[in-house]
Amino acid sequence: MDFRRSLQKFALKPARFLVVAGLDLLLPENCPLCGCDLAIADGNTVGCAHCLARVPAVERFCARCSAPVGPHLNTVKGCGHCRNDRFAFDGVVAAAEYRDIMRDAVLAAKRAGGAATAGWLADRLWERRSSELLKLRIDLVVPVPQHWLRRVVAPHNSAELIARRLATRLKTRSDRHILVKRRRTPRQAGLIPSARRKNLRSAFIATRPLHGSRVLLVDDVLTTGTTADRAARALRDAGAEHVSVAVAARGIGV
Ligand SMILES: [Zn+2]
Ligand SMILES: [Zn+2]
Repeated sequence: MDFRRSLQKFALKPARFLVVAGLDLLLPENCPLCGCDLAIADGNTVGCAHCLARVPAVERFCARCSAPVGPHLNTVKGCGHCRNDRFAFDGVVAAAEYRDIMRDAVLAAKRAGGAATAGWLADRLWERRSSELLKLRIDLVVPVPQHWLRRVVAPHNSAELIARRLATRLKTRSDRHILVKRRRTPRQAGLIPSARRKNLRSAFIATRPLHGSRVLLVDDVLTTGTTADRAARALRDAGAEHVSVAVAARGIGV
C-alpha cells in the first residue's frame, strides 16, 4: 500500500479532505483536466490517456528556443523564431507548443484549484525532455517570480509549482526567494517586442550571489522570451555560471 493510500485510510473523515488536498500536487487521483479516474502503478499515477493524446506532438525542438522545427533544420545557432534574438539564457526546454490542451492547461494552472494541473504540466515536461534536463546538471531550480502585490491576489504562482515538481524530479532544490520581481509591470501580452523589453528592464533582481551555480529558470509558457531573458540576466548578474529555461509550453506567434 503506498504512502498516500495509507494516509487516506487512517485519516478521519473531516481530516481526509485536507490530506487529499495537501497531496494533490504530488499524486492526483483524477485527471486534473478532464476529471476521469487515474490508474496508479508503482506508486505513481498514470496520466489520463485521453488528455495525453491531445498534447501537440513535436517532431523536433529548436536547440536554442524550443520552438517546434522540421526534422532537417540545423538549430545550433537557432531557428527562424530566435535567430535574431540575443538571450541571457543558454537554452530553452519545453514540453510542447502553446496551443490546444497545453494552452487550456496553462490557463487552468494559474487559477484557484489549478495546482494539480501545474503538476500535470511539469509531468509532460519531464516525460518528453527529462534526458535533456538531466544532462544540464542543474543544482538550483528558480521559478520566474511574481511581484509581491500580484502574490497577494493570485491563488498561487504556477511557475513555482512547476519548478518545485521539476526540482523533485531532478533531485535538487527549488528556491522561490532567490529571484525577486521588484516592480509591477503591465502584462507582456499585447505589447510589441521593443515595448516588452523596455517594460521588464531591471524588473528582476537576485537576492544572493550565485557564483558557479547551474540554474534552471522555470515558467509556464515562453513566447518572445523577453521575460525569461530579463530574469536570466539577473541570475547571470549574480554570478550564475549556466542558466537554462524550462517551460511547459512554447508559444509561437501568440
Ligand atoms: Zn484527462
Ligand atoms: Zn529557435
